[in-house]
Amino acid sequence: MVFSYYSNLSRKQKSIYRTSDKIVRVKLQDASTITPLVIRLDKVLQKNDRARIEALTRQITSAIIKNLQVSPVRVKVLAVRPSNNWGELQGLYEPAEKRKHACISVWMRTARHKKVVAFRTYLRTLLHEICHHLDYELFGLEDSFHTEGFFKRESSLFKQLIDN
Ligand SMILES: [Zn+2]
Repeated sequence: MVFSYYSNLSRKQKSIYRTSDKIVRVKLQDASTITPLVIRLDKVLQKNDRARIEALTRQITSAIIKNLQVSPVRVKVLAVRPSNNWGELQGLYEPAEKRKHACISVWMRTARHKKVVAFRTYLRTLLHEICHHLDYELFGLEDSFHTEGFFKRESSLFKQLIDN
């Protein structure tokens, strides 16, 4: 299955899309070394302390980056999610391009209720943005599309970290 925006892509983008769609897993070497950090994240999120959440989010990200031996990415944890008429932004990935490092931003509170984002949602958002980084740095894709394969890769990371 391809998503509807596929038909609006250029030939080159379509080819990147199809390559992305075929990759369905990201295999961590030994996920059990990262799992304790992820378990701690659940508790730290509840403490509602931005600096601590950011420090741990950076630790988890760099553990995954090291595990997969890809180039580093900066991580920022921001307080309240921006919202607009299409909904709330949960996370953002900015590729390296002109800046030195690629950058991931995640938001720790929802815009509407200003509540701390639920642990699983937060982790999924982080892994989603990391998957954009992996598209460029691990799989060598020139663009990062939301394909079915992309969402499978996100789920495969999630399962290795949570359900083992
Ligand atoms: Zn995305």
